[in-house]
Amino acid sequence: MTAISLFDTETTLTPLRARLRESVLAVLDRGRYILGPEVTAFEAELAEYLGVRHVVGVANGTDAITIGLRALGVRSGDEVVVPAFTFYASAEAIANAGAVPVFCDVDAGTRNVTAETVRAALTPRSTAVVAVDLFGCPAPVPELRELGLPVLEDAAQAAGARLGARMAGSLGDLATFSFYPSKNLGCFGDGGAIATDDDELAELVRALRFHGSRDKRDFQYVGYNSRLDEVQAAILRVLLPELDGWCDGRRAAARAYLEAGIEHHVGVPVVPAGADPGWHLYVVTHPRAEALIASLGAQGIEARGYYRTPLHRQPAMAPYVAGVRPSLPVTDELSAQNVALPMSPVLSGEQAVAVAAAVAEFAGAVAQR
Ligand SMILES: *Cc1c(COP(=O)(O)O)cnc(C)c1O
Repeated sequence: MTAISLFDTETTLTPLRARLRESVLAVLDRGRYILGPEVTAFEAELAEYLGVRHVVGVANGTDAITIGLRALGVRSGDEVVVPAFTFYASAEAIANAGAVPVFCDVDAGTRNVTAETVRAALTPRSTAVVAVDLFGCPAPVPELRELGLPVLEDAAQAAGARLGARMAGSLGDLATFSFYPSKNLGCFGDGGAIATDDDELAELVRALRFHGSRDKRDFQYVGYNSRLDEVQAAILRVLLPELDGWCDGRRAAARAYLEAGIEHHVGVPVVPAGADPGWHLYVVTHPRAEALIASLGAQGIEARGYYRTPLHRQPAMAPYVAGVRPSLPVTDELSAQNVALPMSPVLSGEQAVAVAAAVAEFAGAVAQR
């Protein structure tokens, strides 16, 4: 029995080690550590990859959302709609912008917000929507934009994903990325970015990440000290050209799960028409999720439940749902029943078959009882 881990970042990085070392040493030799040439070059390269006019590097994906919302005009006391089924930072960043997160439900198949679930959460105080490309699957951002509010696309999990001819991270009025090590495009520490086609938004974001100043002398806004690190930018410049190949590997693994018939035993992710997910995670559902995880673990297969406590039930969010706790049945079910299976650019067909067989064995045993 060979163990199959949930992620595998080592194998993909091994052939790049020498070039990574070289690029980090080049930064040390140059001695420019803050907003130097590597950050400028990476911003241009990521903008070109995404097909957007501007990318601005920031310190992490959470700051990217807070700064992005500030740039979109979100002010203290405004409401911002956000799914309750996502990583905590998507909502925390709204609160840190001074606004009120208002939680909406998601679709059971795509696990993403829809125009309907967002519309149900809108009030006259709503000023923006945070749409998360959850698990690497693009949210229906074009439909959300028709609701008439600015949409921030949280693409932290979706680097390399596509919707039609466009890249995830180019769909919203503004989009945000995280380069946390385990993301599809991850650096060797913290990092993040904001992408937009809007010249004025980009200019504002650039000022906000540097204490609200454009020239380091006059301070126009109360901003942030939130910059992408020069060393991390140098690393990301080596990794970005690999992203499409890595996503192809993840797509092959997702196909292998389906070819092994996994959908006969667990609920599988629904891919919207025209979408090509980046498969950050391959997440299935089963009513006995924790028992499935334990059963896989006993066979050396690592699996994990995500966001077991959805955001509208998190202690820190209590003040924001104090009036009426929203009823979000799909979120509650998904948070209880989801199981992330092993997924990586190098997950082999045989590994996918072995995981699917272990899932089938568990589901069959449960069904017979
Ligand atoms: C990882 C993540 C973030 C936060 O990114 P950090 O770089 O860790 O701050 C935000 N939203 C989602 C959906 C994420 O997965």
